[in-house]
Amino acid sequence: MRDFSSDVAHLSINSATLRKQLGLPEILEACARRGIRTVCPWRDQVAAAGLARIARQLKDAGLGLSGYCRGGFFPAVDAAGLARALDDNRRAVDEAKQLAAPCLVLVVGSLPGALGGQPTHNDISLARAQVLAGIAATLEYARSVAMPLAIEPLHPMQAADRACVNTLEHALDLCDALDQDRTGALGVAVDVYHTWWDPKLESQIARAGRDRLLAYHVCDWLLETRDLVNDRGMMGDGIIELKKIRQWLEAAGYAGPAEVEIFSERWWQRPAEDVLELCVARYQTVL
Ligand code: ZN
Repeated sequence: MRDFSSDVAHLSINSATLRKQLGLPEILEACARRGIRTVCPWRDQVAAAGLARIARQLKDAGLGLSGYCRGGFFPAVDAAGLARALDDNRRAVDEAKQLAAPCLVLVVGSLPGALGGQPTHNDISLARAQVLAGIAATLEYARSVAMPLAIEPLHPMQAADRACVNTLEHALDLCDALDQDRTGALGVAVDVYHTWWDPKLESQIARAGRDRLLAYHVCDWLLETRDLVNDRGMMGDGIIELKKIRQWLEAAGYAGPAEVEIFSERWWQRPAEDVLELCVARYQTVL
């Protein structure tokens, strides 16, 4: 396994980790000050600061991306909604390109309206069919501009509202269906928060292999999780076997960054510099 103990060469910070303390330009500055060379920005934070400004700041600071969050949310109630989702994903691909991201992360969506608390139907098979079609259409465009797409399976507790793809196996089945030749245009984002519990995790990471492992997100699973979305733990505070999972990824050929992505009302209350310092310390010790 790579040695993470003495520097931050393979550390990336997902901008959601500090989203309530700082704007994106300040997050990028804080990372650069700490010697962190890789980040993963969210679209809404980029939009708030301005795409051109962020692209310039990344370049000037010598910061690279580990991914761009996010595209997806393909299912919709009607043809117009499906078309809108595809348009939005094409824009996300273009933004990822402008920011020189190595991939666009896809949270695929599920029952239309569920995220707002009012699902228009409960046909998850239909949602899955729309996801397959949506990824296929987006992939065609993404290929034309050489922007890889990374499907992120989400924990099954989010199957209704955020993603009807909930296992790495399912995500890889989609990759096999849409990119049989393993061209590198389609792969997966392995987030330990969403996948740690899966009895097939090791075998599916091996199945994915280097060419399909496009992103690796870390945090921890707190035993007393208070909120399904916004109570992720700092690495080392929970029960995920972090080193074991990294070992599986690296055995499969993954050589990219470890991206810290912590949505947490607890950590968002703490000063950004302290959180960043702890991310570095835990990356060096427990990851
Ligand atoms: Zn993630």
